[in-house]
Amino acid sequence: MSARKHKLLVVDDEFLNRDMLKQRLLRSGFEVTEAENAQDALHVIGEGGIDLVLLDMMMPGMSGIDLLKLLRGVHGQNELPVIMTTAVTDSQSIAGALNLGANDYVTKPIDFPVALARVTSQLNRRDAEQRLRQSEERYALAQRGNEDGIWDWDLASNRIYYSPHWIQIAGLGSASISDNPDEWFKRVHPEDLGTLLGRLKQHWVDGAARPFFCEYRLRCGDGLYRWMRARGHTVRDATGRAIRTTGSQSDINEQKAHDSLTGLANRLFFLERAGLCLERARRVPQSSFAILFLDLDRFKLINDTMGHLAGDRVLVDVAARLSASLQGEQTNSQAHHPFTVARFGGDEFAILLEELPQPDDAPAVAQRLLQSLELPFHLNGRDVYSTASIGIAIWNPAYASVEDLLRDSDTAMYAAKARGGAGFMVFDEALRQRAATRLEIETGLRQAIERHELAVYYQAKINLQSGALVGFEALLRWRHPTLGLVSPADFITIAEETGLIIPIGEWAIREACRQMVAWQTLFPRVPALAISVNLSVRQFRQPDLPAKIAAILAESGLSPRHLQLEITESILMDEPETAIVTTRKLKDLGVGIKLDDFGTGYSSLSYLCRMPIDTLKIDRSFILRMRDNNTDLEIVRTVIALARTLGMEVVAEGVECQDQVSQLRSLGCQFGQGYYFGRPIAAREISHLLAATTEDGTPDPDELARQ
Ligand code: C2E
Ligand code: MG
Ligand code: MG
Repeated sequence: MSARKHKLLVVDDEFLNRDMLKQRLLRSGFEVTEAENAQDALHVIGEGGIDLVLLDMMMPGMSGIDLLKLLRGVHGQNELPVIMTTAVTDSQSIAGALNLGANDYVTKPIDFPVALARVTSQLNRRDAEQRLRQSEERYALAQRGNEDGIWDWDLASNRIYYSPHWIQIAGLGSASISDNPDEWFKRVHPEDLGTLLGRLKQHWVDGAARPFFCEYRLRCGDGLYRWMRARGHTVRDATGRAIRTTGSQSDINEQKAHDSLTGLANRLFFLERAGLCLERARRVPQSSFAILFLDLDRFKLINDTMGHLAGDRVLVDVAARLSASLQGEQTNSQAHHPFTVARFGGDEFAILLEELPQPDDAPAVAQRLLQSLELPFHLNGRDVYSTASIGIAIWNPAYASVEDLLRDSDTAMYAAKARGGAGFMVFDEALRQRAATRLEIETGLRQAIERHELAVYYQAKINLQSGALVGFEALLRWRHPTLGLVSPADFITIAEETGLIIPIGEWAIREACRQMVAWQTLFPRVPALAISVNLSVRQFRQPDLPAKIAAILAESGLSPRHLQLEITESILMDEPETAIVTTRKLKDLGVGIKLDDFGTGYSSLSYLCRMPIDTLKIDRSFILRMRDNNTDLEIVRTVIALARTLGMEVVAEGVECQDQVSQLRSLGCQFGQGYYFGRPIAAREISHLLAATTEDGTPDPDELARQ
C-alpha cells in the first residue's frame, strides 16, 4: 500500500502556474490532477482518491479561501491536507487561511524545493496518522478477538482475511476457506443478505465514523443457520474514500433464541422448530404435530392495577408452570414427547408439541396446562388468579406453512376467549368456515361504500299514548353480493375491530341526515320528526367527532333538533371522564343524546347523572320477558321511574305485540319501537308511509299493517 503513488490536486486559475507546478511534481514522482476553478476542484475531491491539495488563495468567482471553508465545514474533509499557494505576502491573510484549517502555504513565484519539502512533510504526517488509527483499531479488535472472529477486507483488491476464530465460529472446522468475500456472503440467509450488504454500503458512503453493525443468520458447517453479530470500522484515504474495512463477528444465537424475561424460547426460535416439524410431518407418514396458542385472560387488568413489575412476575411464573407441566407430561408417559414452549411477547405463549401420536393428545395437554394455572399467583402478599385461553391447531397435510397453523391456533384461541375464557378450543371445520366468512366480510366491507352496497333502513318510533309517529331509527344494512342482506349484528363488530366503522358509520349518519331533509321537503305536512343514528364506541372515541357531526349537519341542512345520537354504556368503560366531556360537546351542538340498550351495561349511576342524556332506551330483552318474569317487569318499572326522576324520556325497544303495548302504556312509558309498529324498512317504503300519514302524525293503519 505504501508503494502507491500519492495523488495531488493543483488548483489555480492561471494555466501557466498550474502547468509549471504540475510538470515538476510529476517529475518528483507524484500523480497530478488539475482544476482551474473552485467548483471543478470540489468535484474532483468529491470523486475521491486525492491525497493533498495545492490551492490558489485568490481566484475569480469562488476563491481558494471559500473552497477551504467549504471543505473544512460542510464537507467535513478535515483530514485532507491543503497547502495554500499565494502571491500576497500579507501575513494577515495567510494567518487567516491557516486558522481556517489550511495545513501550510507557499508563496508565488513558487520556490519548488521549498514547496516539495512542505508537500512531503504534510503527506508523511497524514500517513503516520492513518497508520496510527489503523493500529488502534487492530488493537481494539484484538482485545475482542478472544470471543470474536475477525475479518479484514482490503477493498482495493476485494480480498477478505478471515481469522481462524471466524472460521471456527462459522462451524467450518479447520477447513481453510479462500479470501473471497463470497465465502461469507454465500452463507448468509437469503432474507438477511440484502440488509447486510445494504448496511455495508451505507457504512462506506457514510463518511462519518459510524461503525458498521449488522445481526444476521449465517449457515454454519452443520447446515443450520445461526444468528451472528458483525461489526466493522473502515479506514479511508484523505478524501474519505473507503479503502479497507476490518471487523469482528460473534455468535449471538443464544441471545436471539430466548425471551429475556422468561428465559423461554422466543418467536423466531419457535418458528424455526415448527418449520422442522412441518418438514418431518410431510416426509414421514402418520407423524403429526400441534401448535397450542395460549393467551392469559384479563392480564391487562393485573398490569393496570398492580403495575408492570407485578405483571412481569406473573409472566415469569406462568412460564415456569407451563414448562413444568410439559416436563411432567414427558416423565409420566412412556413415550418421549418433545416440545418447545415460547413466549411471543406480551401475555402470549405458544407451545409446540413436536410429536403427536394421537390427535386427542393435544386437548389433553391443553387441559393440564390450564390446570397448572389454577393455583393463585402470590404477588406482594396477595393472591392473584389468572386463567388462560388456548387455541389448538393440529397439523394435517392441507397445511402449507407454519404461519397457517399459527393463524388457526390464534383463531381458535379467540374463539375460546369469546366463550368466556379459561378454556381451550381446537381449530376445526366449523371455525374454519367462520373464519372464512369473517375474512369475506372484512374484505367485502372495505369496498362496500364505493360499490354502493350499504343502505340505511328506517324503523318507526311511536308515541305509545297517542299512536303518533315521532321519528325513526336509522339502521345499517349491507347488500352483500354473495351473502345477501347482512345484518349489522354480523358486521358491526368486524367493522369496529378493523376501524372500518369510522368511514361506514360516518356514511350512515350523512345518509340519514340527507334523507331526513329530503322527507321534510317532500312532506311538509308531516310534523317535525327526529332521526336517531347509532354511534359505536370507536366512532365515539374519535377526537374530532363533534366537529364531524357539526359538518354533516351544516352540509345536509338538518336542524340539530331533529338529530339524536344513540350511544351505549360501553363508551364509559375505559375513560369515563373523557366520555362525559365528549357527550357534553355533542350536546352543545344541539343534538339529542340517547342511551341505547339500557340495562345491559354496567355503568354507574353517578356517571349517568353527569351525562346530558335526553332519552333512555330500555333494552329489548327486558320488554321480551316482562310479561312472564316479574323481575324484568320491575326493572322496566324502575327504569321508567328513574328516567322520570332524571327528566329523561323513555323508549321501549323490541315491542312485538299488543300486550306489551298495553302493559308499557299502563307503566307510563312514553315511546315504543319494534316489529309490532313496523320493521326497519328501506327509505322508499318509508316515503309511501309518510305520504299516507295524516296531519297529526298518526300513520295510516293500513299502511303500517302492510309493513
Ligand atoms: P340497536 O341500536 O339496539 O338497534 C335495534 C335492533 O333491534 C335492530 O337490529 C332492530 O332491527 C332490532 N329490532 C327492532 N325491533 C325489534 C323487535 O321488535 N324484535 C326484535 N327481535 N328485534 C327488533 P339491527 O338492525 O340488526 O341492528 C343491530 C345493532 O347494530 C343495532 O342495535 C346497533 O347497535 C348496530 N347498528 C345498526 N346500524 C348502525 C349504524 O349505522 N352505526 C352503528 N355504529 N351501529 C349500528
Ligand atoms: Mg340503536
Ligand atoms: Mg338497542
